[in-house]
Amino acid sequence: MRLPTIYSEELPAVDVLAIAAHPDDVEQTCGGTLIKMAEKGYRTAVLDLTAGEMGTRGTPERRLEEADAAGRVLLLKWRGNMAFPDARIENALPARFTLAGEIRRLRPRVLIAPYWEGRHPDHYNSSQLCYESCFLAGLAKIDDTLAPHRPHKIIYASQYANVTPSFVVDISAQFERRMQSLFAYQSQYGDSPEGSHLFPPQSEVRERLASVARFYGNLIGVKYGEPFVVKEAQMVDDIVAMGVRSI
Ligand SMILES: [Zn+2]
Repeated sequence: MRLPTIYSEELPAVDVLAIAAHPDDVEQTCGGTLIKMAEKGYRTAVLDLTAGEMGTRGTPERRLEEADAAGRVLLLKWRGNMAFPDARIENALPARFTLAGEIRRLRPRVLIAPYWEGRHPDHYNSSQLCYESCFLAGLAKIDDTLAPHRPHKIIYASQYANVTPSFVVDISAQFERRMQSLFAYQSQYGDSPEGSHLFPPQSEVRERLASVARFYGNLIGVKYGEPFVVKEAQMVDDIVAMGVRSI
C-alpha cells in the first residue's frame, strides 16, 4: 500500500470509513455525508482501492496528490490507497486479507461501501470485497497481530445506481464543500483539452451532480441529499418524531 496521508498526528480508531474503487468516487457518492460527520466531531477516513491509473486523463501520481488535497477539503483524519489494479478489482482472497487488515487497523464503527450493482465492474466487485473483508476482519482465529474487528454498520452509497434508497442524508449545507473536494482533481475535472471528447466541462459536471443531489434531497424535503441503502431493517423508536412528510 502507498503511504497514507495522515491529516492528524495520531491514528486511533475512526468512526466512519468510506471505501471506494477509485479516487474521486467518494467525492461524488458520499462526500457530503463525510463532511457532515466530520463537522459533528466524528473521525472520518477514506480508503481508495486503486489509484485510477486506467483513467484517460492525468497520471496515478497526480491523482494521488489530488486525492490528498480532496481529503483535506472533506475534513478527513486519514486517507489511504490500496494500490489494487484499476479496472481489475477482484473479490479474491489476497485482496480480502489485505483489506481485512486495514479494517482491523482503522476499526471503523460505520463502513460506507459502494453499492453492489452498477455499470463499472470495479464498483460492484468492491462492494462484495468490502462486505467479505469485514466478515474476515471479525474472525478471531485468523493469523494476524491485530485484534478482530467488524464495523457495527455497513451502509452502501447508492448514488451511481438507480435504486430506491433506504435513507437519504441531508447535505444541503455541505454540498458546496463537496463540489470543491471533487474539483481538487484538476486532472479529471479541470477544463483541459486532453480527452475533452470524453469529459464534460466543469460547469456541466457541477450541473449534473447538483441535479442528482437535488433529486435525492427532494425525496426527503431538503435541497441536496445523498442516498444510501442498507440490507437490514432500520429501528424506529418514536413514530411521532419521524421526519419526511408523507403528504
Ligand atoms: Zn469509480
